[in-house]
Amino acid sequence: MPIARALPDLMHRQMIPHAEIFTADCDCDCSLGLDDTSTNTFVPGISVPLPAQLQQAPGLYRDQLSDGREFVFNPLSAAGVIVLTPRAAHLLDSFALPQQIAATDTPQVSGAHAVIAQLAAYDLLIEPGRELMPIFQPAKTLAAWLHSTNDCNLRCSYCYIRKTADRMSHEVGRHTIDMLFASAEQHGFSKVKLKFSGGEALLNLSLVLSLNAYAQEKAAISSVSVQSLVLSNGIAISASTARKLREQGIGICISLDGIGAHHDAERRLVNGGGSFVYVQRGIQTLLEAGLVPTIAITVSEYTLDGLPQLFDYLLDLDLPFTLSFYREHEQSACETHLRFGEQHIIAALLAALSHIEQRLPRRSLLESLVDKANFLAAHDHTCAAGSSYLVVDQHGQIAKCPMEIERPITTIFAADPLHELRSSVIGLQNVSVDAKEGCQSCTWRYWCAGGCPVQTYRATGRYDIRSPNCAIYKALFPALLRLEALRIATFAPEYSAPNPVERAAA
Ligand code: SF4
Ligand code: SF4
Repeated sequence: MPIARALPDLMHRQMIPHAEIFTADCDCDCSLGLDDTSTNTFVPGISVPLPAQLQQAPGLYRDQLSDGREFVFNPLSAAGVIVLTPRAAHLLDSFALPQQIAATDTPQVSGAHAVIAQLAAYDLLIEPGRELMPIFQPAKTLAAWLHSTNDCNLRCSYCYIRKTADRMSHEVGRHTIDMLFASAEQHGFSKVKLKFSGGEALLNLSLVLSLNAYAQEKAAISSVSVQSLVLSNGIAISASTARKLREQGIGICISLDGIGAHHDAERRLVNGGGSFVYVQRGIQTLLEAGLVPTIAITVSEYTLDGLPQLFDYLLDLDLPFTLSFYREHEQSACETHLRFGEQHIIAALLAALSHIEQRLPRRSLLESLVDKANFLAAHDHTCAAGSSYLVVDQHGQIAKCPMEIERPITTIFAADPLHELRSSVIGLQNVSVDAKEGCQSCTWRYWCAGGCPVQTYRATGRYDIRSPNCAIYKALFPALLRLEALRIATFAPEYSAPNPVERAAA
């Protein structure tokens, strides 16, 4: 039986063809359950026949698009942002109270049953009394920061590394790889992710290349796969370096905070000069070698107003990017110009997000634009610090977070370093959002998870309390969802596959 083309009464991100999901890489590890794309594909629940009664799911976030359509987001479901036609929105409204389904199928609302079934499939209508709770995907990847060198060719104003000439030796590096594969097997991870960092990791390129090759050899005889990437400032990328990274399948993430002076103000060479022109050249060199970098942006007070220009540059090149807020620490506390004002950052980011509206990328920005929040997968912890992220310094000592690299908990030589890290009561405590004061009843709790624990502790002396950026997040999340709705409304009309209800009926 031929299957009809989908009617766009409901549009969803899975309807966008060729929209890659990328993992927003930066110093942190916030990929959570997103490392395996097969686990973040929401499967609509089709119940045929439909329950006798349905009602609108409680706590839906809803807003209008300018063309009369509406978008809706259920914070307690993994369904994501759904764009509704006025007819679908009207049907959703008609279920404000529990209602028999047949009562809605009037001649005025033709085909209502099919739309109702879709609203139910995407958790917008539920059986009365049913409680929704998002499923948290367990991390399948064990991530590690490998502090390849403690040296750097930049002196960035917000850097938390106290630089020295120390480098990681090949011996320490190989022992680290051995430990990571053993830990992954012991604790049930299917992948090891190596983040070569520093300092500037490319100052120790030979170590990066040889450890990646060693890890690939280990992966070939193990059930654990490996993924490598370099976190780099981008200023020392020659054609030869780019080619070697590409040949070895090593990804790269480049830090870029603005165009020209906006970048140069915070990311200076050792001699005080600006670094933007070198980074720009490095990005070009990577692209010419066929290696697409992801871009890590740190926003501070000064760089905020340059974001529209930076986004133009990144969107022109179609580069994936992620944006983090500046986090103060001991070394940067004297750099008071970095501290952003709450109203300024809200206004600047709202302006930058509306700038992106004019030139939407096909890929989702749900995990990229509001600091450590991630609206692609529900989660109850902000990041993997203290659970599946090992920060290994150049001597083989292991800390929970790059910002606590000088506060090691264990070493690569321990019998079970991951267990020691997880059970440590020293330093960073990565508390579930359900245990954070101020977060428990928040609409956004399973997408924000309460913010960076290190930053919250620095601001409040507590880990079990909401982020000091809370008001900023709450002001930005609606704009982030709007951007996603616009992306879906723009690209989903290309969708030509049958919708789930039609597929079930066929
Ligand atoms: S604790 Fe904060 S800085 Fe450390 S990995 Fe988590 S989000 Fe990043
Ligand atoms: S930090 Fe604020 S926005 Fe985030 S979960 Fe807590 S209360 Fe909600």
